[in-house]
Amino acid sequence: MRVTPSTAAVNGSSPDAEATDAQPETPVAPKRKTRSRQAETQLGLVRRARRMNRTLADAFPDAHCELDFTTPLELAVATILSAQCTDVRVNMTTPALFAKYPDARAYAEANRAELEEYIRPTGFYRNKASSLIGLGQALLADHEGELPHTLDKLVKLPGIGRKTANVILGNAFGVPGITVDTHFGRLVRRWGWTAEEDPVKVEHIVGALIERKDWTMLSHRVIFHGRRVCHARKPACGACVLAADCPSFGAGPTEPEAAAKLVKGPEREHLLRMVGL
Ligand code: SF4
Repeated sequence: MRVTPSTAAVNGSSPDAEATDAQPETPVAPKRKTRSRQAETQLGLVRRARRMNRTLADAFPDAHCELDFTTPLELAVATILSAQCTDVRVNMTTPALFAKYPDARAYAEANRAELEEYIRPTGFYRNKASSLIGLGQALLADHEGELPHTLDKLVKLPGIGRKTANVILGNAFGVPGITVDTHFGRLVRRWGWTAEEDPVKVEHIVGALIERKDWTMLSHRVIFHGRRVCHARKPACGACVLAADCPSFGAGPTEPEAAAKLVKGPEREHLLRMVGL
């Protein structure tokens, strides 16, 4: 187990804990630094952000894009379908879709009604069908049926905004990219990395804090943490590996056992062990 000041406290290895040996072992909320965040310098913020990124790397060593794909086009299609839809539902829809539409030409020449039926479970299927047909046509017309490798060219394609383009760059082409989705924006604002709401500004500000080589993995780790621990309504603060570095500690339950119940996902046991629970 990785021992932090908070885990040491939780494990009863602090002097205070030894003084109360007679008491039953009751988990306590992670200890936090008391220094005012208002006094934090830019260098201090960079160090804290990178420390949090390292903690998240320990917490989520297998963080990855949760959409299933085998080619850049499949990832582009899955990302378009993921708008207003869960990755789980997209992954249930795409095997049959990818078998029926294997390349850009298949989308370009698709029968609209038939394509809509394939993607209906993902919602907003009429708009999404338009994007997929337009994407196939644009790829055939301008890129010999292949996805381009640059942000500038990707964002000119139908259905592909900056977020989708960064997902494709980072996960299909190995070009570092920061994906600012709703989880990412919410969490970095909670962490005081930025107060900006605009995703492009958030992307640039976070890009200045974290080394470029880590951008893609940071995006996955933050999104994993947002889905499993730092929920929008009830974040699991009392069982959070980032508690010592988070200025929003207390936004959710701080009592460890109550907070532990809020931690989800296959990494749950590992995450709870990291905080001594
Ligand atoms: S301490 Fe709370 S608000 Fe901060 S990252 Fe953890 S769960 Fe989110």
